[in-house]
Amino acid sequence: MSVQDGNVLSLSRRLLSFNTVNPPGCERECARFLAAQLERAGFHTGLFEFSEARATLVARRDGRGGKSPICFTGHVDTVPLGSAPWSRDPFTGELDGDKLYGRGSSDMKAAVAAMVVMAGRLSRIKDLSAGITLVLTAGEETCCEGARYVVSLDNVLGKAGAIVVGEPTSNHPWIGHKGCVRFAVRTTGTTAHASTPKLGDNAIHKAAEVITKLRAFDFDVPAHPVLGSPTLNIGTISGGMNINSVPDQATLGIDIRTVPGQNDDEIREALQRLLGDEVEIERLEGARSLETDPSHEWVQRVFDIMEPLLKQRPELAGAAYFTDAAVLAPAYGHPPVVIVGPGDPGMAHKTDEYCSLQKMEQAVEAYTRIAMQWCCD
Ligand SMILES: [Zn+2]
Repeated sequence: MSVQDGNVLSLSRRLLSFNTVNPPGCERECARFLAAQLERAGFHTGLFEFSEARATLVARRDGRGGKSPICFTGHVDTVPLGSAPWSRDPFTGELDGDKLYGRGSSDMKAAVAAMVVMAGRLSRIKDLSAGITLVLTAGEETCCEGARYVVSLDNVLGKAGAIVVGEPTSNHPWIGHKGCVRFAVRTTGTTAHASTPKLGDNAIHKAAEVITKLRAFDFDVPAHPVLGSPTLNIGTISGGMNINSVPDQATLGIDIRTVPGQNDDEIREALQRLLGDEVEIERLEGARSLETDPSHEWVQRVFDIMEPLLKQRPELAGAAYFTDAAVLAPAYGHPPVVIVGPGDPGMAHKTDEYCSLQKMEQAVEAYTRIAMQWCCD
């Protein structure tokens, strides 16, 4: 199948058949397949491997110049299947009515397929006034590893005057996303035999106090008009060596979702003031929040394109999750970013994940119109 005559359903099914569950990822074969499709559509492609069998694809088609290219981005890795059994095969692309089932259908192989079909359609236009770049990443689900790698390389990404991120939005164009910062919070104590707890200093008891304080933590920032308020989740807890000792160490893993205007260092300082100096706080990783001015001319053009497809004027909204644009937008000098993809945001990471076929076909139409508006005017 070539992209010129390919349809979004068959291409999505092909992408679902690559097991790209991350970890371990193993996205290279999927990226190679996509590179071959895009070369047939007139793109120059490069695969950039950041570890064994894991590659991000950058595919570029030049325009006449003068205007920066438009960048479309999506990831091909998926989260694990989870412990609950699936009632559908996660890797064969079962279609039931309007629902295409599979791990990564909504998040976000259907969007990647729609981008590649769009690229195939554009190959019929021989001369583009502006270029188009597809950045199809590995390792997004583990804090944008694949995007970070290509950003660290010289002369790979080229320029971009606008970015479209295909993360699941049910095709509603969203103008920003929350950021994220993760900390390990450690309490320490003194070990002793479990039969004589008074001789020790219990680090798990201290962790329990930390949890109580964290549950009452107030970010003390006004709610963002589009993205809402920041959140804090305690995701992991570990501590103690064995059941018959007083534990001398406990660690909590916390994940904070930030809004524009917040800064990781200030959040860390606020946590330190709340928890006291005895508690150690280590920053693990993070991704910045993102917002595009909704009155930006290109954003309004995207809204104009989406309005007849959605049969309503898009409302201002943003994502609670972060995206590769947290890494790509700064590397491209902060062009406007719109997040729009066929996946259902409520389906991401779920058992029996599916994507609407009608939304997939609508995304092909939307991406084609957005690309033509940028590259052919
Ligand atoms: Zn995603």
